[in-house]
Amino acid sequence: MKFVSRKAWGAKPSRYKLVRIASTRGVKVHYEGTEVPADLVDHHERCDDRVRAIQASHLANDVEDYSDIAYNAAVCPHGYVYEGRGAHHKTGANGSATLNANHYAVLALLGSKGLTKPTDAMLHGLRDAIEWLREDGDAGTEILGHKDGYATQCPGKPLYTWVQAGAPRPQADDEDDKPATGGGKPATQPTAKPKVDLSKLVQAARTDPGAKQGHQTYAAGVRLVEKALLELGYLTSRYAGDGSFGSVTVTAYAAWQRHLGYSGTAADGIPGRTSLSKLGATTGLFTITS
Ligand SMILES: [Zn+2]
Ligand SMILES: [Zn+2]
Repeated sequence: MKFVSRKAWGAKPSRYKLVRIASTRGVKVHYEGTEVPADLVDHHERCDDRVRAIQASHLANDVEDYSDIAYNAAVCPHGYVYEGRGAHHKTGANGSATLNANHYAVLALLGSKGLTKPTDAMLHGLRDAIEWLREDGDAGTEILGHKDGYATQCPGKPLYTWVQAGAPRPQADDEDDKPATGGGKPATQPTAKPKVDLSKLVQAARTDPGAKQGHQTYAAGVRLVEKALLELGYLTSRYAGDGSFGSVTVTAYAAWQRHLGYSGTAADGIPGRTSLSKLGATTGLFTITS
């Protein structure tokens, strides 16, 4: 789990002492319900700000009189899990005192306009948050939407479809069956995806880190790989897309390899055929040649 503690995102202290609860029946999933800029997917560096803004608006809401950000956790499009009220604390988000005692609340940084469909990374993050609340907060097995038991559109159709399907982790090689499409028209797949040459990429990964800053051995292929790593949250945009397979990109690629279950020299950040194919397939950005 890519966990961001309250300290790490710069949370303000709670306004009132949070109410402790021993356990819940499960977790309810929420969305923001307002507009979330579509380009947030390209800017993880904005996610902390967004979470801080949500907390600030809740702390300033004298009608609801929240003691803190209302959610137990929030998940960004890059799959990071932001600690909200945390485990064993009653949420303020589900609509009534009873509903709040029955389930934890996890927010997806997803809107009713702009960014409306969850990324695969976000679905993994939501699942991570749910499993964390089960493990550390004695959440039961129920996974529901805010609208279950309360009159609201939340968490929006694409996410609610996923909730109703049991909140499954996305399958890396199952591009045609993304739950995020929410039963609408099927996502159009470009017929010819760009190709990344594995051997040229490996050469770049072995050459660029030791060369002078920004050295490009294979800019076109590296840019695609960096874009994919950014989309999955392994890179932040400050380093993405410069076409140089420098040490930051090597580190990010190694994290992707570990995510796939590799370790030791198999997770050294030098791309291999399987990890690269999966990266292309998961993001839908490229296929590979050698
Ligand atoms: Zn909600
Ligand atoms: Zn993010």
